[in-house]
Amino acid sequence: MIRYAKPTTIDEALTLLGEASWSILAGGTDFYPTQGAKPFRENVLDINGLATLRGIAETDSHWLIGARTTWTDLVRYPLPAAFDALKQAALEVGSVQIQNVASVAGNLCNASPAADGVPALLVLDAEVELRSVAMVRHLPLEKFILGNRRTELQPGEMVTAIRVSKNAATGTSAFEKLGARRYLVISIAMAAARLTIEDGIVSNAAVAVGSCSAVARRLASVEAALRGLPVNGALVAAIQSASMDELSPIDDVRGSAEYRLDAAREIVARAVLGAAGHASDDKAVAA
Ligand SMILES: Cc1cc2nc3c(=O)[nH]c(=O)nc-3n(C[C@H](O)[C@H](O)[C@H](O)COP(=O)(O)OP(=O)(O)OC[C@H]3O[C@@H](n4cnc5c(N)ncnc54)[C@H](O)[C@@H]3O)c2cc1C
Repeated sequence: MIRYAKPTTIDEALTLLGEASWSILAGGTDFYPTQGAKPFRENVLDINGLATLRGIAETDSHWLIGARTTWTDLVRYPLPAAFDALKQAALEVGSVQIQNVASVAGNLCNASPAADGVPALLVLDAEVELRSVAMVRHLPLEKFILGNRRTELQPGEMVTAIRVSKNAATGTSAFEKLGARRYLVISIAMAAARLTIEDGIVSNAAVAVGSCSAVARRLASVEAALRGLPVNGALVAAIQSASMDELSPIDDVRGSAEYRLDAAREIVARAVLGAAGHASDDKAVAA
C-alpha cells in the first residue's frame, strides 16, 4: 500500500526516509505536473510540515536558504547585492502564484536544464546540504546536479538547505532570461553574472548560463577574459570574443542550437553589464 506522511520534525522525516523509498513533495509545482494523472506508485513524503526548513538564516560564515523556502520568501528577504541575480531569477519562475509555493531547493532537485535558479546559484558558488539519518554532507551545486533530471541525492537523503559562503556573497550580480514571451515561460536561455569591481576594474567575475547544456554551466573563459578589465565597452568586446566551449545546446521546439548559442552570448553581455551597473548605482533588488 502507498503511504503518505507529513512529518513535523526533520528527525522524523529522516527516520521515514531511512525506512523506505519515498518521493519528496515540496511546493508540488514540478512534482504534480510530472505525476500527471498516473496513479501514485511510490510513498509520498510531504515536507510542508517542516517549519524549520522554511526561511533564510545567517551564520558567521554562511547564508543558509532552508529547503522549503519559496521564491517569494527569497525575494522579500534582505540579502547582499550579490544575491540580486538570484532574486531576479526568482521573479522569473513561472507566475507569482508559482513563486508563492515553489521552493528554491525543489528547482535544484528537479534538475531541469531550464531551471532558472541554477545559474544564479552557480555564480554564488552555492552548496547543497544533504541530510540522512547517518550524516550531513555539503556538495557544491555543480556536483549535485548530474544531468537532465539526475542529481547526486542518495536513497535516504533529502536536501535540507542551500548554503552560500559569505566569501562568495560579495560584489554585485544580475540575471537575464530569454523566453518566447515576456512572462510565465520556460527559458530558451538564461545567464547570471556576479562581478567584484575595485577602482573601476573587474577584480573577479563569475558567469553561468542555463538551458544551453544538460546542466547549467559556469563559463571559465568568459570569467578569465573579464578579470582585470575596466568597466566600459571592453567588457562586451571580451564577451564577444571569449570561448563558450562549456555550452552544448540542443535543437528543440523553443529554439535551435545555433540560435541558443547566439542568444547566450547576448544575454551574458546583458547580465554582465547589469551586474556592472548595479555596482555603479549600488542598487539592490527590492522586495
Ligand atoms: C506553471 C509553471 C510554471 C513554471 N515556470 C518555471 C520557470 O519559469 N522557471 C523555472 O525554473 N521553473 C518553473 N517551474 C517549475 C517549478 O515551479 C520550479 O522548479 C520550483 O522551484 C519547484 O519547486 P517545488 O517546491 O514546487 O518542488 P516540487 O515540485 O515539490 O519538487 C520538485 C522535485 O524536487 C524534489 N524535491 C523537492 N524538495 C526536495 C528536498 N528538500 N529534498 C529532496 N528532493 C526534493 C521532489 O521530489 C521533486 O522531484 C514552473 C512550474 C509550473 C507548474
